[in-house]
Amino acid sequence: MVHPRILVLEDNDFDADLLCRELKKSGLGFVSKIVQNRSEYEHAVGDFHPDIILSDYSLPSFDAVTAFQIKQQVLPLVPFIVVSGTIGEENAVALINIGITDYASKDNLLSLPAKIHRALEDAEIRREKLIADEKIKSINAELSQLNAELEDRVAARTKALTESENRFRNMMETIPQIAWTNTVRGKVDYYNQRWYDYTGLSRLQTGISNFITALHPDDRKESVSQFSFLRKHIDGGEFQARIKRWDNLYKWHLIRLMPIKETEGPSQHWIGTATDIHELKILQQKKDDFISIASHELKTPITTLKASLQLLDRMKNDPSASIFPELITRANKSLDKVYTLIEDLLNTSKANEDQLQITPKKFNLLKAVRECCENLPANDAFMVHVEGDETMDVYADISRTEQVLINFVNNAMKYAPDSREINVRVERVLGMAKISVIDKGPGIPAQNLRFLFDRYYRINHGGSEYTGLGLGLYICAEIVKKHDGTIGADSEVGSGSTFWFTLPVSSS
Ligand code: ADP
Repeated sequence: MVHPRILVLEDNDFDADLLCRELKKSGLGFVSKIVQNRSEYEHAVGDFHPDIILSDYSLPSFDAVTAFQIKQQVLPLVPFIVVSGTIGEENAVALINIGITDYASKDNLLSLPAKIHRALEDAEIRREKLIADEKIKSINAELSQLNAELEDRVAARTKALTESENRFRNMMETIPQIAWTNTVRGKVDYYNQRWYDYTGLSRLQTGISNFITALHPDDRKESVSQFSFLRKHIDGGEFQARIKRWDNLYKWHLIRLMPIKETEGPSQHWIGTATDIHELKILQQKKDDFISIASHELKTPITTLKASLQLLDRMKNDPSASIFPELITRANKSLDKVYTLIEDLLNTSKANEDQLQITPKKFNLLKAVRECCENLPANDAFMVHVEGDETMDVYADISRTEQVLINFVNNAMKYAPDSREINVRVERVLGMAKISVIDKGPGIPAQNLRFLFDRYYRINHGGSEYTGLGLGLYICAEIVKKHDGTIGADSEVGSGSTFWFTLPVSSS
C-alpha cells in the first residue's frame, strides 16, 4: 500500500495533533482525516475510504464501541484501533471481545506505528484471502453447475440410448421375419422371438453354432462361405438357405445381412433377417416344370404336323398319291392338339384374372348332353351311354357346360382306356342338376383325389406317356364355380371313377 488513508476519531485537537506527529515521526507516510463527532465520522466512513480507523475510547455523546459497530456495517475489513488514555483492563478485554483490531495507549504512542503496520498487513491478508475465497466459491459454483449440466447430459444421453435400443428391439420384435444381431466374428448376441417360435430352440441354445445347425446340411458349407464373403462388404448382401422348423421341416429363407453403420470406424455389429420364401421357391419350381412340360407337350404335335406337311410338300405335284388324305387327317389331328393346348393355356390365364366369361341361358340339360356326346369324334373303343331326367332345364352357359362335359369324357377315354363303357348321368340332387361321367377304369388313389382340380396337378402314372398340362380339371372347376355349382370326383382304385359337377336348375 502506498500511503494508507487514516481516519482519526478524536475530539481533542491536541491529542489528534500529537497522534499525527508521532506517526509522521515514525516515518509512516499516510493521508489522514480527523473527525470529532458521530456525524462527521459517519460521513467520513462513507466518503473518505479509510484503510484504517484510529478512535478515541470515549467522546462526548459518542464512543469507540458504537463507532466500531458503524464501521463494521460498511467497511468490515478495515482495521479499527482504539487509541485512548487509560481505560482499564476490563474495558480493553471487552473491546477485543467485540472484535476491534487492537488497542494503543495515548501514553505510549510509540507502539502505534507498529500496530498500524500489523493491522494493515493483516487486513491486506484477510482481503486477499477473502478475494481468494470468493474466487474459490465462484469456481466451485461454476464447477457444480458444470457438473449438474454434465449429469443432465449423461442422463439425457442414457435415456436416449435406452429409448433407441428399446425402439430397435421393438422393431425387431414386430417385423414378420426371423431377425438377429451378430458380431463381426459371427457370434449371434440376439435373436427375436420369431427365431425361437420357428426353430423351437430355447433361449439357452443360441449362438452361431445353433444357427449353422439349424440350416439344411446341404446348405451349411455354402452359407458359411457366403457369410465370410458378405462380412468383407460394407453394404451387406443376401443368400438363400433352408432353415429347420421346430417340426424338422426345412423351409427356404432369404437371408439378408447388413452391417449396422457406426459413427466412427468399421461396423462391429451386423443385423440379420431371414424371410420365408418357401412358397415362392416352390412356385418357381412349378413354373419351371410347367414351362418344360408345356414346351414338350406343344413340341410333340408340332413335330408330327411338320413331318406331315414336309411329306405333303414333297408330293404336291402328285395329288393322286393315296397317302394324301391320311397325311391331311394326321396334320389336322396334330393341329387340333396344339389348338386344345393353347385353348387350355388361354382359359387358365383368363381364370387367373377372373375373366372367364359365361353367358347363361335356360336349356334342357339331357338334350344338350346327348347332342354333345353324339358329336364327339368317332371312337370305336368306347360306348358312351347318356341317361337321366329328361324334363330338367338348367340356367347355364351351354358351351361352357359342354366344355366341362367333353373334358370329363375325354379324360375317361384317356385315363381309363380299357373301360369300354362310359356312362353319363343327368339327375336332380338337392335342388341342383348333377351331371356325372362314370368310367370303369383303374380309378384314382384316395390321397390324390383332393388335388385333382388344382392348377398344374397331374398324377404321376409311373412313367406312362399320358400327355397333358394338368389344366383341364382346373379350368372345369373355374367354370363350375362361375355357375355357383360344385365339382368333384369319387373313385376307388380298381373300380373306376365318377367325375361330376352341378348346375343351377332353371326355376321358370
Ligand atoms: P391333363 O390335362 O394333364 O389331363 P387334368 O386336369 O385334365 O390334366 O387331369 C388331372 C389328372 O387327373 C390327370 O393327370 C389324371 O392323372 C387324373 N385323371 C383325370 N381324369 C381321370 C380319370 N377318368 N381316371 C383316372 N385319372 C384321371
